[in-house]
Amino acid sequence: MGISLSTDDLQLLKSHTKSCYPEEACALLVGKGSKVNRVVVAKNIADDPRSFFEIDPTIRISLEKELRDCEDSIIGVFHSHPDGRDHPSERDEEMIIERNFVWVIAATNGSTYFELSAFEPQANKGFKEVSITRKI
Ligand SMILES: [Zn+2]
Repeated sequence: MGISLSTDDLQLLKSHTKSCYPEEACALLVGKGSKVNRVVVAKNIADDPRSFFEIDPTIRISLEKELRDCEDSIIGVFHSHPDGRDHPSERDEEMIIERNFVWVIAATNGSTYFELSAFEPQANKGFKEVSITRKI
């Protein structure tokens, strides 16, 4: 199905990733269907945030409350791999809980170079890469 992101949302993910470097940055993607309408950056509360990410659950809970009467919902999760690849790690595969979430992963080379890919968890195991469309 893929995902579509606005230029502003891409810019926000980029600046958040840079400001978290060398730690992993994370965010929740809010929207409808495959269209992201809002990026909500979140605190990474993992014990070792340079290698892992864990989204602050209080942010997710308050966001879900806020979205209760909206057409939009949380449709995806974003995190970065500082000096890593723009592909899910083994640990990411173990963390798939929400099968309907799209995973957007940013790879950085230092705090500058930035590449973004999107993946959908598969029914049995692993991820499948999907396209990212940029909307104006
Ligand atoms: Zn990861």
